[in-house]
Amino acid sequence: MASLILKAPLDGVVVPLEQVPDPVFAQKMVGDGASIDPTNQLLTAPCEGRVTQLHRAHHAVTLTTADGIEVMMHIGLDTVNLKGEGFTAKVTEGDQVATGDPLIEFDADYLATHAKSLLTQILVANMERVSSLAAVSGSVSAGSDDFLTIQTIAADGAEAEAAGKTVSSEAILIPNATGLHARPAAVLANLAKRFKSRVLLTRGDDQANAKSVVSIMGLEIAQNDKVIIVAIGPDADAAIASIAPQLAAGLGDEGTAPAPAPATTEPDPANAPAPRPRSDDPKVLLGVAASPGLGVGRVFQLRRDEIDVPEAADGEPRAERRRLEDAVERAKNELESLQTELRAKADPAKAAIFAAHQELLEDPDLMEIAESAIAKGKSAAFAWQRAYSTHADRLAQLKSEIMAGRAIDLRDVGRRVLGILTNHPTEEPEIPADCILIAEEMSPSDTAKLDPKRVLGFATIGGGATSHVAILARSLDIPAVAGIEPRALDLANGTQVILDGGTGRMRIDPDPAEVDIILTLKHKLAEKKEADLARAHEPATTTDGHRVEVVANIGGLDDAKHSIPLGGEGVGLLRSEFLYLERQTAPTEDEQVQIYSDIATALDGRPMIIRTLDVGGDKPLPYLPMPREENPFLGIRGVRIGLEKPEILRTQVRAILRAGIGRKLRMMFPMIATIDEIRSVKGLVMEERAKVPGAELAENAVELGIMVEVPSAAVMARQFAREVDFFSIGTNDLTQYTLAMDRGHPKLGAKADAMNPAVLRLIKQTVDGAHAEGKWVGVCGGIASDPQAVAILVGIGVDELSVSVPAIPAVKAEVRTRSLADCQGLAEQALACDTAAQVRALIPTEY
Ligand code: PEP
Ligand code: MG
Repeated sequence: MASLILKAPLDGVVVPLEQVPDPVFAQKMVGDGASIDPTNQLLTAPCEGRVTQLHRAHHAVTLTTADGIEVMMHIGLDTVNLKGEGFTAKVTEGDQVATGDPLIEFDADYLATHAKSLLTQILVANMERVSSLAAVSGSVSAGSDDFLTIQTIAADGAEAEAAGKTVSSEAILIPNATGLHARPAAVLANLAKRFKSRVLLTRGDDQANAKSVVSIMGLEIAQNDKVIIVAIGPDADAAIASIAPQLAAGLGDEGTAPAPAPATTEPDPANAPAPRPRSDDPKVLLGVAASPGLGVGRVFQLRRDEIDVPEAADGEPRAERRRLEDAVERAKNELESLQTELRAKADPAKAAIFAAHQELLEDPDLMEIAESAIAKGKSAAFAWQRAYSTHADRLAQLKSEIMAGRAIDLRDVGRRVLGILTNHPTEEPEIPADCILIAEEMSPSDTAKLDPKRVLGFATIGGGATSHVAILARSLDIPAVAGIEPRALDLANGTQVILDGGTGRMRIDPDPAEVDIILTLKHKLAEKKEADLARAHEPATTTDGHRVEVVANIGGLDDAKHSIPLGGEGVGLLRSEFLYLERQTAPTEDEQVQIYSDIATALDGRPMIIRTLDVGGDKPLPYLPMPREENPFLGIRGVRIGLEKPEILRTQVRAILRAGIGRKLRMMFPMIATIDEIRSVKGLVMEERAKVPGAELAENAVELGIMVEVPSAAVMARQFAREVDFFSIGTNDLTQYTLAMDRGHPKLGAKADAMNPAVLRLIKQTVDGAHAEGKWVGVCGGIASDPQAVAILVGIGVDELSVSVPAIPAVKAEVRTRSLADCQGLAEQALACDTAAQVRALIPTEY
């Protein structure tokens, strides 16, 4: 037996571990020792040793002494969530340190306001090496006072494994939002310690002793990492049977995406997409506006039968694997024919959604997880169902609404395969006429089949405005609300409701007068729509002859084609990121040249502005890994990605230059905030221009512009105008950055109104700056499609309105209702208003 004395690593007051308000430490699950309530801000080494683990969040560090004692120090409680903020590591893993050497500096003020507690735990993690341990009490000074006296025992090399067999679990996806940090690592180690067998946690080629918190934390397992638990010894079967399900369920960690859960449960606010709105009025249900329009009809609950699947396989794993492969192959064929059918109906947008489903079926992880369950004797149907539902549940928990929307796609395609495996026909429910469908979730397959003559609208508990289902609903012109309050599921079939897809609400049992008002309004809207459409090909000219260009915001070729019959005069914004999403690799230069040329051909000589890739932060690309960011909207997004990873931008720039030869193409850069950024981008364009034969000729010049969507660009408009040929104001982002309100926030979204006078003043500043330098300005944010805003924007002096495709006829009609002088008068009044509501009151609307 030997003894080890740890010096106090902090100044402060010693607190017994039992009093730490966290059961993991209080119940000594991580190890035994004591806590210090610190009065200084530097953690120092309590003994000599090697840094064997430094958590990437820099809130925890472990020293291993020459004798193999693992001393772990954990600063504060729940500090893993700070992701390194407030901590400065003074060592790296592998460093040898002496007593009193600095380990981690921390900002106590920051921690005090952002974490649960500053209490810092100093523990021995491998207690099997300790016979007794005693802590001092009272105040201690770092480096000088003794803190813990530990009696150690020699390491026992004998392993229980000799007598047993090796058993491994299926592959498990880690659900914990912050990975296996101290708390879940401690729970896992304690579970593993109940068994005699040696227990290993493996991820690919890496492995850790699952009985050691330090070893587990050393693997730095992150959320969604795929791990396998291996047990070697006499009770290996029991160890795996006990540990694997608990690991898959998150080890009781709060920050865990729940195991498959009904969509009606409240999401965990830590992981879930932003909280959904709730109404205080029992007769009104709130959700997210997914597809505009008003629907008055009777509720029809669309329920899906659960498909029952046997857990155990009838046959050999080989036969089950073959069944699964065959079913996946058949599902791919079904999707192929569906696409051919949709293309024949000239509906390539819908076809593309099912092409994306085919890609989901290629996901190797999905197959691997299913196959690993089959290898354990599970039936193909059970293994497949669990694999896709687990993946879908993880996706549904992600903050990005786009990724969460893909969960619905995955369930849709997963169910398609399951239906084939179980011979469960894809049932076609008998949908009554004039109904408003309510469903937990609608799959893209369900939505594509809807008949707009019978279904007047639908509401789903899951999903969001950017899901494929919402996109399909808009293309079918069916009003839809996503993320509606779950009590919608309790409404009886036949209940009359008014669904407002424009505001994301549903009114239950409206009184007859209300229904009359809505039906009259619908009728008037339909008449107006028809009248606007009849004049869609006329220019948008004010009554005194001032012409405003009205062009389209598009995501691809299909939108471009639709814009022409609606009177579109070109494209003011091609959101080119749509060409990059839903793919495993970036589109090649040739592919891009082809698509830009195809769109230009469809526009038949009309001009087009191609915005370069605008992703990043909340819109990740699978083949462009970027570190997770605390504030994605203020991080590496838009042109900043292009400058950080220039190869993708250079390829796109070359493609645009090539497609621009002999065509009216313009190139526009998103999220420009500084003059340096636009100069760097221009430099890059010049370099690429030199490489594209013909691009240097004056007649092939592609004009360059910027999105004005960061307040700095609006404020410095005159300086920016000297650098470029045109501006297009992205009011969606300009509003969120001006008002500091997340544009997708369910509570702030409505307040983040681009009609706020602060935003209008920035628009005016932009227009004045550009015109002073002889440059033109468009607006391509959502405000340009808002009939209430059109006259004010024209009055401010905006030259071009780039609007959503269906809005083109109405925006043109709106321009024609007033003289330029009237518009200028309105703009002047709007700029002098105090609030967005006052601005909107200037232009009352019946609709
Ligand atoms: C905008 O920010 O207004 C804009 C048009 O760009 P996006 O909506 O694509 O960010
Ligand atoms: Mg934008």
